[in-house]
This record gives sequence, structure tokens and C-alpha cells, in this order.
Amino acid sequence: MGSPILLKLFEDNPTLASQVFGLIKQQENLFTVNRAESEVMAINQAAGRHPVVVSAPVFALISVAHAVSILPDSAFNFTIGPVVKRWKIGFQGREVPPAAEIEALLRLTDPHQVVLDAEQHSVFLPLPGMEIDLGAIAKGYIADVVQAFLRQQGVAQALINLGGNVQTLGSPPHQPQGWGIGLKKPFGRDDELLGTLQVQGKSVVTSGIYERYFERDGRCWHHIFDPRTGYPLDNELLSVTVIADRSLDGDIYTTLLYGMGVEQGLAYLAGQPDIDAVFVTRDRQIICSPARHFRFSQLDFSWQLRH
Ligand code: AMP
Ligand code: MG
Repeated sequence: MGSPILLKLFEDNPTLASQVFGLIKQQENLFTVNRAESEVMAINQAAGRHPVVVSAPVFALISVAHAVSILPDSAFNFTIGPVVKRWKIGFQGREVPPAAEIEALLRLTDPHQVVLDAEQHSVFLPLPGMEIDLGAIAKGYIADVVQAFLRQQGVAQALINLGGNVQTLGSPPHQPQGWGIGLKKPFGRDDELLGTLQVQGKSVVTSGIYERYFERDGRCWHHIFDPRTGYPLDNELLSVTVIADRSLDGDIYTTLLYGMGVEQGLAYLAGQPDIDAVFVTRDRQIICSPARHFRFSQLDFSWQLRH
């Protein structure tokens, strides 16, 4: 997955643990675009040529990604692949690509052009060079699959962390207040926390510009792109954390809220009673939406907390 995986169980059950890791591997094999073969790669390789029939879960996730991508003013675009590949951030990318190249690649990122056939479960990218990238939501989707599997196995208390996508079941033993999930200090060491979020049976998903980036010309070029420009999103945010029932929703909303910024994001969340968020900004503020499903305990008081 290119990111560490943590599973917490409160029973000594190595078989269950290895089943979970097997499940993650199997799911990843459906969605990856970083290796030779996957269902998503098959769609990308057939771009400009023919539709590709995929499995029901892959079709369902692509349909969700498509719907979110065509929302008005959406910062989420599941056809951002050509831009992501060109920048190579988090892989070998260290250079800002020429503007003309970015411009040309942007023409291959119109989500409206993707043809979905719900009866055939087929996906067609009409232009050669178009590429689907589900990197923004695959981990959230897989975290939910793991949660459902554990629940089905009768597990009542567990935590899974897929590289920043945390999904939980219940609360840990003897901790009725719930799981304490660390909010990382942007660009800090792994053990440097701004605070912790307490949740029960909720998912906590963070997207931050410090996860994958390179520095050049005094700027941080990171891995969350503005689909309107083809450049990394440039606003007041360092990270967005979303608290939601489903990790997939958390993963979708972190990207959407990133594009909105703090003020518009807070206004938007006022109409979303099931979604909470914590914004961390460049001017050292931690801004919590009116907390409905979590409690925040601050640890680093050199940052200003706003509710
Ligand atoms: P996350 O780690 O969940 O914040 O997702 C970041 C990943 O999502 C990137 O590494 C890209 O693969 C992909 N991505 C980047 N920008 C966008 C965007 N605007 N819409 C959808 N996916 C994106
Ligand atoms: Mg995401």
C-alpha cells in the first residue's frame, strides 16, 4: 500500500489477524495503479480503445468516485491520474512540470467524459491517456471492508489504521470514552501530536500536505491536487481530518473540504450532521467543526484552538 498498516485486536487470534492482512492485500490488488495489474489498470490501459467490464465492488466504488467528481465546484476528481503521474510526488518527483505540459494533461481529466454502464459493469475512458486514480479513497473503502469483516467475525472492539485512515469498532476495553486517535503535528516527528480525538465506532481520516511532498523555490509541492489547475491545492490548510461513520466518506470529505478551505468548509458542514472535521492551518490554528461525534483534547498549546 505504500503506507504502514496497524491492526489492534484484544484477543490472541493470529488467524484472524492474518485473514485481515490477506483481505487488505486482495482489495488492494483490485484498485492499485502503481503496479502492473489491477482492474483499475485494465480500464486505464484500454483508454481511447474500449470499455472494460469490472467486478461489482470496483464498479460501485468508481460510480461513487464519478458522482463526487461531477459535483459542482468539486475539488475531487477521480480522473486526475495523468496529473498525479506527471508530478510523481511521493515517488521520484522533485521538479515542477512545465505549465504547458500540465495544461495539456488537464484536458485528459474531465470526469464527465467517463462512460459508465451500470448493466454491463463496464467503464470506458474515451480519450487515450485518460487515467483513473482512486488513491484518494481506496484506503477508506478498504478500511470499511475490514470493519465489516471483523464485525461479521463477531469482533466488537478493534482498530485498523491504513496509513492515516483509521476505522474502529466499539471502544477499547475499560475505556468507555472511546479510542484516542492522535492528530499529528504537520511536518513534525511521528510522536509529535497537536492533540487527540476521542471516538467510538467512528472513522477518523486525515489528509495532510506533509504526507507526500517535495520542496522547491521555497514552496511545498504536495500530493493533493487542484483539479482546476493541475497544481497542488494552495490555501491556508496543512491538514483536514474528518470524523464519520464510514471511512470512505471520511476519505471523500477530506479532499472536498481541502478544496473548500476553512470558512466555506465549516459552512458546508453545518448542513452535514453526520460529518465532523478538524482543520489545521498554516497560521497555527486547530479549528474544530461543532463536535457532534468526537471530543478533542489539545496537547500542544503553542497552537490556537478554535471551536
Ligand atoms: P489522500 O492520501 O487520501 O489525501 O489522497 C491523496 C491521493 O489522492 C494522491 O496521492 C492522488 O493519488 C490522489 N489525488 C490527488 N489529488 C486528487 C484530487 N483532487 N481528487 C482525487 N484524487 C486526488
Ligand atoms: Mg482521502
